[in-house]
Amino acid sequence: MLEIFTPAAMRAWADRARVEGRRIGLVPTMGYLHEGHLSLVAAAHRLADACVASIFVNPMQFGANEDLSTYPRNMAGDRAHLERAGVEVLYLPDADAMYPRGFQTDVTVNKVTTELCGRSRPGHFRGVTTVVSKLFNTVKPHVAFFGEKDFQQLAAIRRMAADLDFGIDIVGVPTMREADGVAMSSRNAYLSDTERTAARSLSRALAAARDAVTAGARQADAVLARARAVLEAEPQARIDYAELVDAETIEPIDVIDRPALLALAVFIGRTRLIDNTVLVPMTLPATHAGRGDGAASGPASH
Ligand code: AMP
Repeated sequence: MLEIFTPAAMRAWADRARVEGRRIGLVPTMGYLHEGHLSLVAAAHRLADACVASIFVNPMQFGANEDLSTYPRNMAGDRAHLERAGVEVLYLPDADAMYPRGFQTDVTVNKVTTELCGRSRPGHFRGVTTVVSKLFNTVKPHVAFFGEKDFQQLAAIRRMAADLDFGIDIVGVPTMREADGVAMSSRNAYLSDTERTAARSLSRALAAARDAVTAGARQADAVLARARAVLEAEPQARIDYAELVDAETIEPIDVIDRPALLALAVFIGRTRLIDNTVLVPMTLPATHAGRGDGAASGPASH
């Protein structure tokens, strides 16, 4: 695995790979890698022939009172994981290379970053979209991979790539979970044993909401109440937000009449965890929808 440390060297490698006609896939991360990150690498192997992973703990996306200085790091472990996963290039820029003296430009995606983490972490997405733009301009990928675990981030990057004509395919990868349902996250490393148990309440809250929708619930308030009840029953959990939004626009919705993102941010002790699920209302075919007897029947025939 080749390690590259500067934007100039990264760009030179990318130019050569492109001349050779190779399809570059990029997996951006902040390190402390787990199976979730490696599922992005696996997707990159399927859809590209040169896989670049980056590790950069981006100061610009952390708020003043957030965990930049304590963010977990394990370079030796990360190298071993990426080497084993067949990554060709590990890009490791440092903060001085990314934000040299005089840096004063940012990339802002507006509407889809308004709600959820955009509200509770002001400036966060501006940091994300700025650093991802810089990675796109140096790694020059044909395709880039992002986890659905950070669903709003994925939506913002899709929007940015389309709006700014990056010409890069953005691929979303499903959330990898531990056996007990907890979404894998570098921040799980902060949890004590009892907090790790309490962290299960997030995926249980999502499951409760999904069950409610399967049983026919469509009002956002009612579905959210089911999720909140699970979280409120967990003494170590404190809800930052629990919201239902349109899965594409990330705008609040009152009725689940289209794919809806149920997104949670919850403090377990001092650790803020996020998780989400997309709720898709299964509707009866139009010819039967008015009968009101819930009769399940085949699709309307032509
Ligand atoms: P991070 O290192 O936390 O910035 O994450 C780097 C990338 O990995 C992002 O695109 C995340 O959405 C993705 N990711 C993080 N956790 C998971 C997970 N449990 N399953 C799938 N992708 C993930």
